[in-house]
Amino acid sequence: MTEEANGFRKIVYLSFPPEASNRPVVCNLALLFNLSFNILKADISPRHEGSLTLELAGREVDYHKGISYLKQNGVKITPASQKIFRDEELCMHCGLCTSLCPTKALSVNLENRIVEFDVERCSACGMCTRVCPVRAMIVDMNENDLR
Ligand code: SF4
Ligand code: SF4
Repeated sequence: MTEEANGFRKIVYLSFPPEASNRPVVCNLALLFNLSFNILKADISPRHEGSLTLELAGREVDYHKGISYLKQNGVKITPASQKIFRDEELCMHCGLCTSLCPTKALSVNLENRIVEFDVERCSACGMCTRVCPVRAMIVDMNENDLR
């Protein structure tokens, strides 16, 4: 989890059962809990199971209330950081992934040329898995459709 001057921020992956996909539960995060959200990835269709990767921002206490509200409405929540990991033995710090990473979770340390991975910034978009020559970046594909 990260704390910044403008509040608490976290990227979460949401799975919606069909009965929850018709309700405005995400909009209610703003209305009821004063949380702002940024949709990073969406795969939602009415009356079907769907998924959404969201960056939520606001007060930490409101974030936890919002997460409880989502759970009460049948939404399954996974921190995006739990859906990806880097195999440190495989990574050769070539830097290829850093130019593609949309959230800057992967970045080159200019002092030692090491590619650093900040998992809390990761949205589990899967872009890095497509370019990594040694397949060091691994995303949990069970619930996340990374086409
Ligand atoms: S999955 Fe890879 S490319 Fe996407 S945000 Fe995470 S580290 Fe960056
Ligand atoms: S592309 Fe793969 S090997 Fe290269 S820095 Fe990124 S994770 Fe490491």
